[in-house]
Amino acid sequence: MQSTKRDTASWQAADKAHFIHPFTDGASLHKEGTRIITGGEGVWIRDNDDNVLLDGMAGLWCVNAGYGQPKLIEAASEQLKSLAYYNAFFHTAVPSSIELAELLAEVSPAQFKRVYYSNSGSEGNDTVIRLVRHYWDLVGKPERKTLIARNFAYHGSTIGGASLSGMPWMHAQGDLPIPGIVHIEQPHYEALGSGLTREQFGLKAASWLEEKIIEVGPENVAAFIAEPVQGAGGVVVPPSSYWPEIQRICRKYDILLVSDEVICGFGRTGNWWGCQTFGYEPDLMTFAKGVTSGYVPLGGVMVSDRVADVVENGGIFNHGYTYSGHPVACAVGVANVKLLIQEKIVDYVREDAGPYLAEKLATLNDHPLVGYTDGIGLMWAIQIVKDKSTNALFDYDKQVNAICREFARKNGLIIRAIVNDRMIIAPPLVISRAEIDRVVEITR
Ligand code: PLP
Repeated sequence: MQSTKRDTASWQAADKAHFIHPFTDGASLHKEGTRIITGGEGVWIRDNDDNVLLDGMAGLWCVNAGYGQPKLIEAASEQLKSLAYYNAFFHTAVPSSIELAELLAEVSPAQFKRVYYSNSGSEGNDTVIRLVRHYWDLVGKPERKTLIARNFAYHGSTIGGASLSGMPWMHAQGDLPIPGIVHIEQPHYEALGSGLTREQFGLKAASWLEEKIIEVGPENVAAFIAEPVQGAGGVVVPPSSYWPEIQRICRKYDILLVSDEVICGFGRTGNWWGCQTFGYEPDLMTFAKGVTSGYVPLGGVMVSDRVADVVENGGIFNHGYTYSGHPVACAVGVANVKLLIQEKIVDYVREDAGPYLAEKLATLNDHPLVGYTDGIGLMWAIQIVKDKSTNALFDYDKQVNAICREFARKNGLIIRAIVNDRMIIAPPLVISRAEIDRVVEITR
């Protein structure tokens, strides 16, 4: 049953009175009025006044299978009817959580056969912090506590996730990061690579990890965590030399490598996992979003044999969530992963939709406001510039971006404005060529 029908002004008044929105300036939200979204089909969403918009952001980079997929809806409904909840603590499990674990192992690199469930990416990364420290305790190296992450990374907004994140405005609120988390620069060629080729810069950016390891002391470092492609930090695609060198450095110092696949996982870069696109083998992978295409909350950590063998034989890991392995979330996860497999959606991103979007976005390069485009698969950034010859940014990046975003929305397209004057496009993976044409047309 749907919520009661009301006119938009009535929803907005109730929203203003009772609802505090995440990552939102309340004053400007309520001046504009909250947009009330009531429906979705494929790549399209509908608001309370029946305006239809093309969702070029797949919600928050999560609705990989598109809206309204009957198989996902049926899976949720069937599971709710048979067993809405049971826990995975204390020697019990439900079939959907086991079946999803089995499927996740099937679509993951060979070192991953086991999963630890959470409800979100933030909780997944909190789990990572505790899991890597627990692992090092169990193997007799308890001093290995420090996690190295990157500036402008986004790993979530719990205290752990926000600490791993490298957003200064998040650290400024709540006295973060927590002790034992340090950051290095991101591999952002256009911003930091002056005088170097892309590949030279990739090696240089990886060397910042080695410098940080030496500064902290290799014997104190537990793990390095990063997104294959930084998402909320601006869709910064690293040079191809970067990740293999990062892996070499982690192996040299015996440091666990954690790939935060919350955005990149489940096909967004054209493979099941971003680490496959960039050619590295992590010890842990965080996931969320695309595992259920956002239909219900679910996240987790894929745990490699190296770590899982130790933790499974190390007594109780005193960690978990009431909803770890939630039956309904896992049933939707099963239906979603099966759909991605059966419909060959990951191949479609790699071989068709991704290259087609890249080709179409390249046609924007002659636009006076476009510096360049950066991306892979179905995650792309358009760099908005004030001066094309120098790639200089506008002075008031948030305002400029807000203008671009609002202009797109008024013309029927949701795209997102992000740090450093970048407009982001990350549509559902099922987007058709004709819909990609529409995205690029409105963007221009
Ligand atoms: N990690 C990455 C790479 C993300 O992009 C996000 C969310 O956008 C998170 C973690 C946090 O996930 P959640 O919002 O589900 O807690």
